[in-house]
Parts: sequence; structure tokens; C-alpha cells
Amino acid sequence: MAGVSLVCVPLVAKSVEQMLSEMATAKVRGADVVEIRLDHLASFEPRRDLDLLLRNRPLPALVTYRPKWEGGEYEGDDGRRFEALLLAMEFGADYVDVELKVAQEFLDYLSGKRQDRTKLIVSSHNYQSTPSTEDLSSLVARIQAVGADIVKIATTAVDIVDVARMFEVMVHCQVPMIGLVMGERGLISRILCPKFGGYLTFATLSVGKESAPGQPTLSDLLDIYNIKQIRADTKVYGIVGKPVGHSKGPILHGAAFRSVGYDAVYLPLLVDDFASFLHTYSSPDFAGFSVTMPHKEAALACSDEVDPIAKYIGAVNTLIKRQSDGKLIGYNTDYTGAISAIETTLQGSSGKVSAGSPLADKVFVVIGAGGAGKALAYGAKGKGARVVIANRTYERAKELANLVGGQAISLADLENFHPEEGMILANTTSIGMHPNIHDTPLSKQALKSYALVFDAIYNPVVTRLLREAEELGVTIVTGMEMFIRQAMGQFELFTGLPAPEMLMRDTLLSLQ
Ligand code: NAP
Repeated sequence: MAGVSLVCVPLVAKSVEQMLSEMATAKVRGADVVEIRLDHLASFEPRRDLDLLLRNRPLPALVTYRPKWEGGEYEGDDGRRFEALLLAMEFGADYVDVELKVAQEFLDYLSGKRQDRTKLIVSSHNYQSTPSTEDLSSLVARIQAVGADIVKIATTAVDIVDVARMFEVMVHCQVPMIGLVMGERGLISRILCPKFGGYLTFATLSVGKESAPGQPTLSDLLDIYNIKQIRADTKVYGIVGKPVGHSKGPILHGAAFRSVGYDAVYLPLLVDDFASFLHTYSSPDFAGFSVTMPHKEAALACSDEVDPIAKYIGAVNTLIKRQSDGKLIGYNTDYTGAISAIETTLQGSSGKVSAGSPLADKVFVVIGAGGAGKALAYGAKGKGARVVIANRTYERAKELANLVGGQAISLADLENFHPEEGMILANTTSIGMHPNIHDTPLSKQALKSYALVFDAIYNPVVTRLLREAEELGVTIVTGMEMFIRQAMGQFELFTGLPAPEMLMRDTLLSLQ
């Protein structure tokens, strides 16, 4: 039954005192269960230590004594392990974990001493890969047959699509099951377990205290992914990219969903092959995606319908699954975000509200001809601007200028380019980006010719280019403004609701 999953903090401290203190912290921070990893203790006196640990536990406790051959730290014989696990049962442990390979032996050892109040978890770990659905199902059957109260299977994700097999098996499992897929590519298994009926998921107190690869922190699970609110029909969104670990998207969109009560979770999705990812997670519940490097072109190719300007740009950064027919609709909120930021600022600084775009008929200079360059060039063209492209590789500038019906010039010629007043400048190169914050794509002197200067870079928020423009009294628009607006655009496409602008701005500010 899909619903609430328990959140368990593994305790991998070296001393009993430290474990006791971490148990208390786990409770305060909102964990449901702690896992006492006896194999991590530097010295272990079973009777004394188990009594201390279990008598003083502030939360239900799972006791595990994992041997080296199953990925743990214990190197001795099984006899001592079994003794300690039986003792844990006698001291009232809520759960005891034993490995499938020795589960029968352990049960024979317990014979009549198995305690009803202690649930037996029988576990199997695969640190290389995730078997086929059939093999996972037969593993579940073997674990069930041995007499487990709870089935635990942990495998490894070579690709994010591997996780889907674990979900499929978990959703059909007749007994409580913990099904986790380790590694960065398996992260979604740890977050979406309530959606697919997982009994329990692990989360660390802090980074570095993982007991297995890919475990998120407790605060990420509770506060960013809002795991306690995830149910079987919760919609899944996320940022698809490679890498995605640095993305602010989960914090920003997670907070936005929560603020309007939208029943959805937003995940980092580390994807290698975009088409196979979409094919695997094709259910309507995987409802929409932000798309970043290197998948924006693949997202366009996978779209059933595409916003016409996104098609010209050749990049889709937002993909929505239309709920009526499952078709994938591609958008590009990078260009709408950047262009609307520039338009709004121009309108604000002129004090005039005109019917058309304030970009109409303006000279709009784009430095760069890559992804962001194309987005700005087509976006400005769509508003009736006269587009000029300047790029290090002149050929690419020419190519893009031809596509948008604009003019190409070299970076050197841009220094003295001043055909008229009131021009707009948009930097879309990475010149000036952290750590090269002293670089700038155009001299301060040349900036005098512009009414507004925009920089797509958002790290730092105010680049040297923008600082120098500001010093000259030129209006500026930051890459952060583009970023927030592209995210607001995505929120509106995802939910059909107006974006909670103040909350999204405050959330982003708090991350800087
Ligand atoms: P891209 O496709 O790789 O294009 C990079 C462009 O920069 C190319 O035109 C390249 O010129 C030029 N370039 C790079 N290094 C240069 C150098 N040292 N000197 C002169 N020209 C140089 O990259 P992109 O995806 O368009 O991203 C570009 C920037 O936009 C990045 O800083 C990115 O963070 C930012 N961005 C911001 C947002 C936002 O929301 N604010 C969104 C998307 C992108 P060549 O053609 O000669 O190689």
C-alpha cells in the first residue's frame, strides 16, 4: 500500500556515547527510526552496549550487524553476530536485519527464541547493478519464503532507468518491502518510496555519515522533498541533466509547490540517455521536467509539439506531459525569462507603458552564439528588434545572424559599434563568470553606447560588465533575473497556476 514511509537514520558512529547522542538528534530532527550499525562500533561489548543503546533509544530501533561480505564492517564469524542479534531481540529491538545468505541459519539458531515484538528484516545487497524485474521478483519470493517480516533489497543504479524496476517490484510486493537503489543515479528510489509503497527509507544526519552510497540527508528528505506529503498519486517533476547535483531547482520548485499546496515533488534527475529516461518513466504521474545541459536538444527531438521559438532556438528547457493525451509539449522559458526581464526593466526605466514591446525596432546586440545566444537572438527578433550578433568565432556569429535575419560583427568591431542611441546589449558568453570574475566581454568605454546591458551569467550576480555599465549610469539586468523568470515560467507551465513570485525570489536570495 503506497503511503507514508518511515524515515530511518543509520548510526555509523564509532562509540556508543556518540550513537546515543546522534539518536537524540535524529529524533529532534524528525526521523521515525534509527538503525544501530553495530559493525561500525570500534569496540563492542554486546550485553552492556545493547542494553545501553536500546534502553535509552528515543525512537524505534533497527539493529544491524553487517559483515564485510555484504558491504559492512564486521569481520568475525557469524556465531558472534547471531548472538548479538538475538540479544538485541531480547532487549526489545524493534527490528533486526539479517542477510538473506545466512537468514535460514539465523532462524535455525533462534529456533524457539524468535521474539514477536521484533520484526525480522531479511536483506540482500547488490553493489554492482540492478537485476531484471523477473530476478528482483524471484529474490523477493526467496526472502519471503525464508520467513522475513520485511523484505529489504538494495541494488545499484548504473542508469536512472534501473530504479523503475525496483518501483515495479515494490508496488506489487505482498509483504512490507524496503527497495532502494544505491548511487547518485538511484536517488529517486530514496525519495519516491512512499509513492511506490516502500516501507522505509534511509537518510543521514549530515553529509559524510552515509551508510550506503546515495543516501540523502534527513533535512533534504523532510524539507526539500517534503517526503511526508508524498502519496501514491503525488505528481513527479524534476530537473533532467548531467550533472544536476548543483541545481537550485529542487529547493526553488519544491518550496513553490509547497507554498500553493500543489501535490507534487521536484527531483534532481541525473540522466544519461534522455529518450530512454522518457520511455521508462512514461506514466502520466511523471508530469513535467526542467531540462538542462546536455539534454536541451534531445528534449526538442523528443517533443511531440514544440513552441515555435523554442524550435527555432533548437533547445527545449521545459517539457510538459499533457494530461489529456500524454503528449510531450516542449517550451523554452530561457528566452521568455530573459526577454521579459529586459522588457520589464525598459518599461520601468522609461516610465512609459507602450502597447507593443519596448524592444520593437531597437538595435539588440548579442555577444555569443551558443545556446543562450540563440535564445536571446530569437527572443529579441520575435519582439521586432534589429539583432546584431558578435562572437569569438565569427562564422558562428554569421550563421546565427543569417538565421534570425540580423547582422554579424566581430568582437573587435563591437568596441566601436555605435550606429544609434538606445541600443541593448546582451552578454551570453561565460566571460566574467566565476572564477574569472575580472574578465569582461566589452570595454567600459564601449558600454556608453547602450541604454541597457544584460548579462546571462548569474554567478556572480553582478559581473564586471554589469558593474561597469552601472557606473556609467546604464540600466542593467542580471542573469539571476533571467533565472528566476525562467523558473517562474516553468512553474506556471507545470501547475497552470500563477508563480508565487515573492516566495521564489526570497528562496533564491536565501541560497546566495
Ligand atoms: P555555450 O552554448 O557553450 O556558448 C558559449 C558562447 O560563449 C559561445 O558563443 C562561445 O564562443 C562564447 N565563449 C565562451 N568562452 C569564450 C571566451 N573565452 N571568449 C569569447 N567567447 C567565449 O553556452 P551557453 O549554454 O549559451 O551558456 C552561456 C552562458 O549563459 C553561461 O555563462 C551560462 O551560465 C549562462 N546561462 C544563464 C542562464 C540563466 O538563466 N541566467 C541560462 C542559460 C545560460 P565560440 O562560439 O567562439 O565558442
